[in-house]
Amino acid sequence: MKAVVSLNSGSSSIKFAFFTLDDAGHPEHSAGGKIEKIGIAPSLVARRVDGSILAERTWKQGAGLTHAELLKDLFDWAIDHLEGREVIAIGHRVVHGGMRFATPRRVDAGLLDELDALCPLAPLHQPHNLAAIHAIAVMAPDLPQIACFDTAFHHDKPEVAARLALPRTLHEQGIRRYGFHGLSYEYIAGQLRTIDRALADGRVIAAHLGNGASLCAMRDGKSIDTTMGFSTLDGLMMGTRCGTLDPGVVLHLQTQLGMGADEVDDLLYRKSGLLGVSGISSDMRVLTADPNRQAQEAVELFVWRAVREFGALAASLGGVDGIVFTAGIGENHAEIRRRICERLGWLGLSIDDDANAANALCISGGESRVKVLVIPTDEERMIADHTLAVLRSES
Ligand code: ADP
Repeated sequence: MKAVVSLNSGSSSIKFAFFTLDDAGHPEHSAGGKIEKIGIAPSLVARRVDGSILAERTWKQGAGLTHAELLKDLFDWAIDHLEGREVIAIGHRVVHGGMRFATPRRVDAGLLDELDALCPLAPLHQPHNLAAIHAIAVMAPDLPQIACFDTAFHHDKPEVAARLALPRTLHEQGIRRYGFHGLSYEYIAGQLRTIDRALADGRVIAAHLGNGASLCAMRDGKSIDTTMGFSTLDGLMMGTRCGTLDPGVVLHLQTQLGMGADEVDDLLYRKSGLLGVSGISSDMRVLTADPNRQAQEAVELFVWRAVREFGALAASLGGVDGIVFTAGIGENHAEIRRRICERLGWLGLSIDDDANAANALCISGGESRVKVLVIPTDEERMIADHTLAVLRSES
């Protein structure tokens, strides 16, 4: 039996998912898991699709282990646990495809050089994504690897939505709005096509609300605008990231408070957002359960900022036919969905409280002019589908 693997290699974690191909060549999710706390105390948990534990492991004195060393252990473990399945390809989430890549690509030395050159555009993610590709190329040089880009879904949005109001030469150098979470939005667009064809053809705002969070305005299933821009800092308030920020604040931090580039980077990516405002946690569940004023202010700001960005994308679309919530908060947190939707009532939108509390597929009220859906995202499946499509296109 054949299988493909989806890999999402980040700064402190490596997420993986195995898909076994059925007789028709369709990928069935068979197992998945995560190595987390890389660089501190790495541990592995792998689960079957029913949620039961397939493997658990910690590495004693593992703080010094690199992504490549941990991937080698994961590779050896996978060979023992594949029960005769043959891995025919590995698909990778690669955060940045730059100006050029609008579709997934088979990795070769030339592509790797081009993707390496994009590291300065996504210094927190791209080097770790590529480290996994490099490591596997050494372990299994003949195994096809496919790069799937988080920017690709937004590649063909209108030029005006890609421009920053900076001198043209900077735009030409690649200092422009790319947009991210593209694999998630592409999956949602595909699901919408089967769930509600008419809505899929209409004006939809998809809200990927997880630790990282963004919105995507879609028309006919294509991205026409999105809240993340040049980097994954822009747009919504997030778990630890600030979202849209007056650039004057960055200048002030550097010139008046004497902060260096690394300190500002750390502040904006890791110490801001829900964590920074609450001073308590980056986790929405923790904050909504905490009556402390600071926790409540952080939640209020998250909702406020999300509503503001919904308004902006509604304007980009010239109206809204549907909203889709997805990712950790979007799929599970009924209170946050309710608070956002209440403040979007001016769009002619209302929700059904029981359906919302149950995380039902459709949570809008009968009289709502805007359909509101909750659709679980599955970036790993999107990567597996792309990986197989690239292999098929070559055969
Ligand atoms: P990541 O961007 O790291 O993949 P997730 O999509 O897992 O993040 O989202 C994490 C967020 O989702 C956290 O703020 C967490 O509180 C929230 N979340 C996860 N599960 C639930 C749940 N069952 N109920 C409410 N909130 C949840």
